[in-house]
Amino acid sequence: MREVADGILQLTLPLPFGLDHVHCYLLRRPTGGWLLVDTGLGMHDWEESWGRVAEELDAPIEQIFITHFHPDHVGGAADVQRVTGAEVLQGALDHRLLLDLWGDGTWAARAFDVFRAHGVPEDISGEIFASMDAMRPEVRYAESVTRLEPGDDVDGWQVMLLGGHADGHLALWRDGILVGGDNLLLEITPNIGYTLDGDSDPLGTYLETLARIEALAPRLTLPGHGPLVVDSVARARETLAHHDGRLAETVAALGRREPRDAYQVSLALWAYDLVPIHRRFAVQETIAHLERLVCEGRVRRHSDDGGSVAYTAA
Ligand SMILES: [Zn+2]
Repeated sequence: MREVADGILQLTLPLPFGLDHVHCYLLRRPTGGWLLVDTGLGMHDWEESWGRVAEELDAPIEQIFITHFHPDHVGGAADVQRVTGAEVLQGALDHRLLLDLWGDGTWAARAFDVFRAHGVPEDISGEIFASMDAMRPEVRYAESVTRLEPGDDVDGWQVMLLGGHADGHLALWRDGILVGGDNLLLEITPNIGYTLDGDSDPLGTYLETLARIEALAPRLTLPGHGPLVVDSVARARETLAHHDGRLAETVAALGRREPRDAYQVSLALWAYDLVPIHRRFAVQETIAHLERLVCEGRVRRHSDDGGSVAYTAA
């Protein structure tokens, strides 16, 4: 735990992925207590770990704010709530998507169909969904939450909707400081993935988020992963340029005559062996780029009667 700004502590928790950590933040409340932003993945020794965090603090964790429903941010919410008794604040849309994804078993079957439509072989899809199922025990979200909407106020922090990485992703904004979740990261770029029942153009939404951050010009962005972002405007521009390059590569991976599906394109763009979770990110990110290009008129989408989707360069 370290102080990163006046009245703001950063708490870094381990993750068992290629991405080996996630940052949570503790924001000092007007009551003197703490507002915890994000909770990491559920831990097997949660009682001991969160008990130790609570002990190290000079005041209780009174509220928990969730930026978005991805496992590394929401997975420990119920654990912290049990240890501290804190109220959990979560975006209304975010909470609905959370229950869709982790709440019942129907999501995987429907997502399987989407992957099939985009050309992902069944054995690869099987591996992808098995890896998600394996993560399920570590996703211990809070059952009862206070739902937030964009524009709400939490201790003087403005609740902002910054979409693209996740539909309904919320951030906090006050005094030039953006508690940004996964929207702006320094050494990596957040995965922008097409998801079931979600935004039909997540990359378009994310590019708007980057423009919004550029306009806000935070003096400090507190990210979910990696180093603090001091020059947020420069990083927003770099990330924008990264996606411009990626869009051009995506067009280049398509021909004009022979349609290619998103899975084939993802293999061209990410031409190395990926573990199932990363293959999923690659396919979803490729679809997001293809759909943005369709919106821009640079790519054509072709659907056949069987529901298969493929693309050509326009
Ligand atoms: Zn994350």
